[in-house]
Amino acid sequence: MKFASKLIQFDAAPGDRFRPTATPIYQTATFEQEHADRFGDFDYSRSGNPTRKVLEDHVATLEGGTRGFAFASGMAAITAVARTLRTGDEILADSDLYGGTCRLFTRVLERGGVTARYADAGDLATFAARITPNTRLIYVESPTNPLLRVLDLRALAALAHAHDALLVVDNSLMSPYLQRPLELGADVVLHSATKFLCGHADVTGGVVVVKDEKLAEDIAFLQNAEGNALGPFDCFLLQRGLKTLKLRVDAQQRNAQQIAEFLAADPRVERVFYPGLATHPDYELQRSQASGAGSVLSFTAHSVEAAKAGAERAKMFQICVSFGSIHSTISLPGCMSHASVPPEIAATRELPPQLVRISVGIEDAGDLIADLDQALQAANPANILAEASVE
Ligand code: PLP
Repeated sequence: MKFASKLIQFDAAPGDRFRPTATPIYQTATFEQEHADRFGDFDYSRSGNPTRKVLEDHVATLEGGTRGFAFASGMAAITAVARTLRTGDEILADSDLYGGTCRLFTRVLERGGVTARYADAGDLATFAARITPNTRLIYVESPTNPLLRVLDLRALAALAHAHDALLVVDNSLMSPYLQRPLELGADVVLHSATKFLCGHADVTGGVVVVKDEKLAEDIAFLQNAEGNALGPFDCFLLQRGLKTLKLRVDAQQRNAQQIAEFLAADPRVERVFYPGLATHPDYELQRSQASGAGSVLSFTAHSVEAAKAGAERAKMFQICVSFGSIHSTISLPGCMSHASVPPEIAATRELPPQLVRISVGIEDAGDLIADLDQALQAANPANILAEASVE
C-alpha cells in the first residue's frame, strides 16, 4: 500500500465484536482477567491499553518499524530512549537540537552519569572525531530546528554502526509522510507527536518506533516501569489527527514553498532558511532522503527589534512555541523554544537573535503572504525608528 492508503487502511478496533470504524476510547485503568494465574492481552492501562495499541501499531507501520510506543510527550519519548543508557555511556548529538532535548541531556542525564557531547553533524569528519568508545547513541534532528540544516542520515547511520552505536532521529519536523529514517538506516525514530502527527495542537504526546526486537523489549519495559505512556483519550485524538497527515502536510508544504519564495525575494528579509529553495545548500541532500521540505522555515530580519516587531504585527501567524499545526504560527526561537538551551551550550551554537521561525498552516497562501507583507512593513527599520521617536 502507498502511504496515503496506510494512513486510513488499518484495523481500528482489533477483536471488537461491534466492528467500529473509529478506534474506541478504552477509558479504563484495569481489565478483568479470566484466570487468576494468567493475564490476557491487557491487564492494566499503564502496561498496555487497546486504544494506545492501535495508535502504536499504526505509527510503527507508517515509520516502517516493527514496534511503536506512545508517550505522554515528546520529551517523555526522548527520555525513554535515553533511559536505555547506563552510567558512563555517552550521547553524541548534533549541535542544532531542540532546546528541551539539550536541557534533558545536559541537566538531567548527567545526574545519572550519562554524558552528552555536541558537534556539528553536518561536518562528518569533525563529528566522527568526537565519538569515543563510550558513545552509545548518535542523536540528531533533520532538518535541524530552527536553522533547517539537513544532515546526511544514511552517512550518520553508517558512522554510528561502525562504532557500535545506534542512530536516533527526531523526525518531528518531517513526519513519516516526508521522511522515514528507519529506511535510511537509523535504529530509532521518535517524534514530538504534539507536532505534525497530531496536527491540531490539541494533544501533547510523543512516539518512539524501533526495528530491533531487543530494543523494543527494553523500551516496552521502561514505558511500563516508568509509567509515562499516553492516556487513552489522547491516543484517540492523536489517531484521529494522524489520518489526515498527508492532506495537511501537502497543503502546508505548498503554502510554505510560496512563502519561502516570497521571503527570499524580499529585501526586508536578510536570509531565508528552507530546504525547499534550490538556493539552500542542502537542497539536493534533502531531496535524496525526504520527499519534501516540510512547512517549517526560518528567516533572519535585519535586527532583533525588526524580528520582534514583525512577529508581533503578524495577525494570521499566532505567536506560539511549537510547530506542525494546521494554523500558522510565528516565533523567535532565541527567546522561546530554544531559551532552555543551557548557557554553556548556547554559547557554542549559531542561533542568530534576529531569527524568526514560522510554521505554515493550511490557510490560504495569498492571505498568509499578505499578512507577512504587512508585518514586515511594520518591521522595517525606518518604521521602527519613526515609532520610537513618536513614543
Ligand atoms: N523534539 C522537537 C524537535 C521539538 O520541537 C519538541 C518540542 O517542541 C520536542 C521534541 C519535545 O516534544 P514535546 O513538547 O511534545 O514534549
